[in-house]
Amino acid sequence: LRFSKLRLTGFKSFVDPTDLIITDGLTGVVGPNGCGKSNLLEALRWIMGENRPTAMRGDGMEDVIFAGTASRPARNFAEVVLQLDNSERLAPAGFNDDDTLEIVRRITRDVGSAYKVNAKDVRARDVQMLFADASTGAHSPALVRQGQISELINAKPKSRRRILEEAAGISGLYQRRHEAELKLRGTESNLTRVDDVVEQLG
Ligand code: ATP
Repeated sequence: LRFSKLRLTGFKSFVDPTDLIITDGLTGVVGPNGCGKSNLLEALRWIMGENRPTAMRGDGMEDVIFAGTASRPARNFAEVVLQLDNSERLAPAGFNDDDTLEIVRRITRDVGSAYKVNAKDVRARDVQMLFADASTGAHSPALVRQGQISELINAKPKSRRRILEEAAGISGLYQRRHEAELKLRGTESNLTRVDDVVEQLG
């Protein structure tokens, strides 16, 4: 599942719609300090469902919206569109009908984030799961932040294992297990309540 195009609108320093075409092979982004190279990587993480403002170098998620400059007013929303090439039909079940997969995340001030996959409204969780199953994602080891290599070298075995698991594409399973456990716990407490009611009636 190959990334083919990234479009940013009102996202951080990318105020006007900006397309980044991603072709086969290795993609390098070069430019002077502060031109927005890290913002591009953050846009990729963000569209995969990243929800921690600190991972986006902000205090709140709305900090990703273009905040204005001396000559341009601030925007009301930020949008990132990611196109994936799905001609080999490698997308996870449920998303596998088309040659391209287009994922959109838009955040509007005071409203929050909304996600779409191929023009259909979906939940954040669906997008997170899609990328987790495709062995990539907001926490993917394929996206390397500055300073992350030394973190990896110094990492504890447990965190290193998490990285390997992500690469093996099984982190989506952990998320599902976690959700199943929560459901089980909810059901157990419902059962206890039913027992109480039955006892009272008897
Ligand atoms: P370096 O090489 O120093 O790491 P970089 O090319 O990675 O730089 P970024 O850190 O991606 O650059 O971009 C920082 C720029 O983005 C700064 O000029 C900052 O003012 C701008 N920026 C960040 N958030 C916003 C926002 N919400 N609105 C407008 N501009 C923003």
